Amino acid sequence: MPKKSPDRVQLSAKALRDIRQSLLKWYRAGARQLPWREPPMKTKAGRWMQTLADPYRVLVSEVMLQQTQVDTVIDYFNRFMQRFPDVQALAEANEQEVLHAWQGLGYYRRARHLHAAARAIIEEHDARFPETVEALLKLPGIGDYSAGAIASIAFGKCAAILDGNVARVLARLFAIQESIDQTTTRKQLWELARQLVPANNPGDFNQGLMELGAVVCIPRQPRCVTCPLQQCCQAYQKGLTEPLPVRTGKAKQKPVTHDVMVIHKNGHWLIEQRPDQGLWSGMWQAPTLEQRPDSDTTSPTTAERQLKDWLKQRTGLRVSMKKVTQFTHLTTHLRITYRVWQAKQITGRLKPGVGQWVSKKQLASFAMSNPARRAIEIVNEES
Ligand code: SF4
Repeated sequence: MPKKSPDRVQLSAKALRDIRQSLLKWYRAGARQLPWREPPMKTKAGRWMQTLADPYRVLVSEVMLQQTQVDTVIDYFNRFMQRFPDVQALAEANEQEVLHAWQGLGYYRRARHLHAAARAIIEEHDARFPETVEALLKLPGIGDYSAGAIASIAFGKCAAILDGNVARVLARLFAIQESIDQTTTRKQLWELARQLVPANNPGDFNQGLMELGAVVCIPRQPRCVTCPLQQCCQAYQKGLTEPLPVRTGKAKQKPVTHDVMVIHKNGHWLIEQRPDQGLWSGMWQAPTLEQRPDSDTTSPTTAERQLKDWLKQRTGLRVSMKKVTQFTHLTTHLRITYRVWQAKQITGRLKPGVGQWVSKKQLASFAMSNPARRAIEIVNEES
């Protein structure tokens, strides 16, 4: 079991053997079937062997699984594979197509990175996937976790992984009582993950760790009764399974207000493209005024006057408007209140280059964030 120094931990040969054997046995006996996962195989001689997975499928699934639950990812993954069946197809797509396929999954920067990684594989690696952690880390958006996952699962390299799920499992397994959000603890966890991953079948072992974190060693009340590592688990032996892992409090999401003006005329909706940088960059929305944190628009009359002036100046259109509803959307850093307005009595001409009038059918083909589409749909249902 590990010595207490946060920088250096050394697992005993027995601890390594017990954990590896127990986890692999459990994973081989009952891992969930997932569309990107290859089941372990038994040779004629009775030895277990990892089946190498398609690196493109591993890449796409790992990127989708960052911040998103498996159950949600499955449908998106299958649709994405139908649309972009290989790395060449993804590299040849334009950004709007990729964002559109990603629509609803959120965290759109992931989609842009994935797209950029596909292009780098085609253009800089002659369409051959890099196989080592070092080479994978040079691809856009690929961090230590994804590089380790692809190298071990698709190429059988002895590479470690550490994400939130695995960190939780290891913090409990070794009863680590420092916050897993601290850099020193993170280093310690990586060190443990590197020692644990075996040279034989590293991909199955890593997937076993992921699986354990997802279905047994779950966040609040781990299912220790069914855990294959119960005998080796220090948190279990010390009665610390629920207080661990220790987390440092996350920064609060900043509250902001976005006023969305849904403008519908002659069977067409007015939409505009967001800037190239920042939140939901390059995606489409109804004209939206992002209020400054210090602006006082709590009074409906003040807000309405301000919005009408802003819209006239921005688009050239004069409207009267009514507030339809409001809803809240959370991002990693923001708590956004969306105030949804419906424009009426629309006059004036749209300034060139400001936006586009699109039909309902066309609207479906534009990449939009969930709240941007929801605002339009709410007004559509009301009218
Ligand atoms: Fe997690 Fe419980 Fe298993 Fe320990 S015994 S690894 S706390 S599920």
